[in-house]
Amino acid sequence: MRNRHAKILATIGPASRAPDTLRLLHDVGVDAFRLNFSHGSHEDHAASVKAIRAVQEATGNPICIVADMQGPKLRCGSFEDGKIELRYGETIDIRQGREPGKAGLVIMPHQELMDAMTEGTILKFDDGKLQVTVLSNDGITAKARVDVPGVLSERKGINVVNTVLPMSAMTDKDRIDITFALTLDVDYIALSFVQTSQDVRDARKIIGDKAGIIVKIEKPSAVEDLDSILIMADAAMVARGDLGVELPLEEVPVVQRRIIRKCRALGKPVIVATHMLESMIDAPTPTRAEASDVATAIYQGADAVMLSAETAVGRHPATAVAIMDRIISAAEKDPIFWEYFEATPLPYETTAEDAISGAVRGIAKKLDAKAVLGYTLTGSTVQRISRERPPCRIIGLTPKMRTASRLALSWGVTPVVTPDPDDFDDMIGRISGFAKDELGLQVGDTVMISAGFPLGNPGTTNTLNISKIT
Ligand code: PEP
Repeated sequence: MRNRHAKILATIGPASRAPDTLRLLHDVGVDAFRLNFSHGSHEDHAASVKAIRAVQEATGNPICIVADMQGPKLRCGSFEDGKIELRYGETIDIRQGREPGKAGLVIMPHQELMDAMTEGTILKFDDGKLQVTVLSNDGITAKARVDVPGVLSERKGINVVNTVLPMSAMTDKDRIDITFALTLDVDYIALSFVQTSQDVRDARKIIGDKAGIIVKIEKPSAVEDLDSILIMADAAMVARGDLGVELPLEEVPVVQRRIIRKCRALGKPVIVATHMLESMIDAPTPTRAEASDVATAIYQGADAVMLSAETAVGRHPATAVAIMDRIISAAEKDPIFWEYFEATPLPYETTAEDAISGAVRGIAKKLDAKAVLGYTLTGSTVQRISRERPPCRIIGLTPKMRTASRLALSWGVTPVVTPDPDDFDDMIGRISGFAKDELGLQVGDTVMISAGFPLGNPGTTNTLNISKIT
């Protein structure tokens, strides 16, 4: 059992795909894995899911799997030598096509971009690390001046700063990838470059209730339409890589904080992603600023923090996870961390579920309760309890593995797959045994139990019991 509340989501890639590495990453702290459909083949992703579910089986810990769609991400194509150098002030050619580019020539597959570029269009490559300004475009070749030089590797992202492209949020590739990911029984599908709530509705038509939907907030239009997008979604990701290219950089921390607050108010998991321990792609330790960035996300109440290239292609994937685990734990030990949650009021719905969830934090504090154990079918009540950020363990007890693995992303929740008890006495007896054997609690410790009697029906939470372990 983990000793922290916020979760770690790690991206799988060549550096972490081996089954032994996935096991190691889980052992050192990964609660959820991300399959990045911008890279890797369907066979790679299927093999990763199989290996993760084997870890789940071997450890008994439900693990959340997120299938992250590429979305209408523009990318340059390949290069004859894998990369080219863009020199300050030089003029390069940009063309649409599938063949490899070379020095002075970038070829990309997107006709929409070719058609939309006019004099003055600014293109940023590789999360904004390189920048060119279009000088002319005859429809076949665009000429562009390099303003921010550097090495451009193949298939790096392209962001168009000042030109709107007529593209829908779900590409044909996404539809194929979503359908495939659903056959793998992933827990969440992450949608990239969502712009409106209609994008989420369109995805829901394909996904139904087979997986939760994570909206990646990375477009200025999504920031403007945040409320209606979050209401339609099951969870959100602050996708700071593209967000920081599409929006002025200084807006990213402001938007991050706003998204976290809104998601917590809605009781929907929120992930802070990208560049968290970026220097650990190469270095064995992060910078102090990176450590502080992870801690800030935790103080702000993020459910999960994400590792991207650090675990996908980095040199120290397990160390990055272990260090992230330490940074989270240290922040959560700070009394100020808990004061923040008490000081932030939450909107309440007039439901028994919210009344019970709302009581949990106060009881945990007043009675020094060590855990709240919630019986749940859909995960809903446990999610509402997680929203409260109570200063105790949250155990999500469910007979459904799908509910358990989805809850593995939620703040503070330890999901446990267990059959529903027969009756109230059976429940109390089982909880006492579980609390001593699995949670290390002592006789006399106080726990809370939430349930909906009669058990087995979703949406019926009506009971909060306070018990002492016997
Ligand atoms: C991001 O842009 O921050 C992000 C998480 O998305 P991706 O890794 O797909 O670019």
